[in-house]
Amino acid sequence: MYKNKIFTVKIIDLTSDGAGIGRIEELNNLAVFTDGALPGDLCEIKIIKANKNYAYGELLKIIGPSPDRVKPVCRVFEKCGGCALQSLSYDAQLKLKRKIVSDCIERIGGIKNARIYDTIGMADPYNYRNKAQFPVKKNKRNPNKTDIGFYSRRTHDVININSCVISCESSENIIQVFRDYFEKNKSAPGRFVTAPSAREPYDEITHAGVIRHIFIRSGFKTGEIMVCIVANLGQGENLPDYVNLIGRLKKISGVVSIILNINTDKTNVILGKINKVLYGRDYIFDYITDKKFKISVNSFYQINPLQTEKLYAKALEFAQVNQDYTCIDAYCGIGTIALMFAPFVKKIYGVEIIEQAILDARKNAEINSIANAEFITGKSEQVIPELVTRENIDLIIIDPPRKGCDIKLLEAIISAKIKKIIYVSCDPATLARDIKILSTDGYKLYEVQPVDMFPHTMHVETIVSLQR
Ligand code: SAH
Repeated sequence: MYKNKIFTVKIIDLTSDGAGIGRIEELNNLAVFTDGALPGDLCEIKIIKANKNYAYGELLKIIGPSPDRVKPVCRVFEKCGGCALQSLSYDAQLKLKRKIVSDCIERIGGIKNARIYDTIGMADPYNYRNKAQFPVKKNKRNPNKTDIGFYSRRTHDVININSCVISCESSENIIQVFRDYFEKNKSAPGRFVTAPSAREPYDEITHAGVIRHIFIRSGFKTGEIMVCIVANLGQGENLPDYVNLIGRLKKISGVVSIILNINTDKTNVILGKINKVLYGRDYIFDYITDKKFKISVNSFYQINPLQTEKLYAKALEFAQVNQDYTCIDAYCGIGTIALMFAPFVKKIYGVEIIEQAILDARKNAEINSIANAEFITGKSEQVIPELVTRENIDLIIIDPPRKGCDIKLLEAIISAKIKKIIYVSCDPATLARDIKILSTDGYKLYEVQPVDMFPHTMHVETIVSLQR
């Protein structure tokens, strides 16, 4: 009933996906969420949707800007869904992230006065991503055009992007090759070997068309680049005119691997399970500090290599290990944390669900001449309860995906009375939930360190230490 009404609102906070939160005095302090508004802004907003307990507003005008407002560097900042915080000064972003972590630990974790340090930021918070995933989609208005870029905020529309201020610069040349490829598809249809639909980008609704995503990963220290083309193709099929496409891609400096990834599922999961090497290797190398890592396409690898070094250094500092320690790196990916710890401990086990990542981890141990790391494929919540019955574990490092730890893993840690836990998390809410479980069962939260792995976005990485 308040729809389309206009109000003046002071923004006091941000939601977890970056919308400004304000309260409308005239409506009994009804909470209103508004994209583009920042804490400290005084704005004029129009209500676009209203419920009993909250409303959504459209930002019409900023009457009094927050003192922390800056001009965003990116031209498509307002449309793109990638960076919600580019209009907030970097210093204020770091303070905001500390506050997000602190609020979760207090409200969800139930812990007051935790020792939470200032967020570790980047000296130059741009071009930090070593991975980019560009969706490919037919243009809405002109079906002869293909859009390659990023999803626009809160939609599945693709906005064309040639360069991105947080991604690595090499993506630009690669995207240009694909733009030419789709253009050519239109002008020279006679040259194709597969069905006509193969010339079209993938369509999520009709499930027709071929190329879904272009996935690029680069090793910042080695300069090696992997280009992975995610396509809706049958197993025996190949991309139309792929010889020319590969011919151009492999000329780009750094490209050592071109992969065709088959994804025929109706899903928004980007990568499928089957890969075919179109050129070069099926992996790239990179270094974290002085250690060399082999990274396959389906393996997880931290996206901000500079901050990863700071994160892992903190993990080592918090852990205070020695040569008598037997440790577990749960959710170990390609073994990065385990192999950083290995030289300082007696033995470390890595556990990871993705088989290819474990194969990479074993190879990485070999490349770095590390003999005291053992890697096991499986779910942490299945492997670790059994592992702790036959080995005395002094320290466990946990670095789960956003949903946090399975309760069976936490119960195994508690019943084995493992002395120290280092928990690395990309979601402060599930981190706080798990801290609450551990702290009601004998663990004390010692230190909390937010690390800015994802500048200009609402994402926060946190590392904490807990001890019995
Ligand atoms: N510690 C690594 C990887 C962290 S990302 C690094 O810093 O690079 C989380 C990892 O957990 C991913 O590799 C994912 O494949 C894996 N994973 C997800 N669910 C899991 C589970 N139930 N058990 C073990 N590993 C899991």
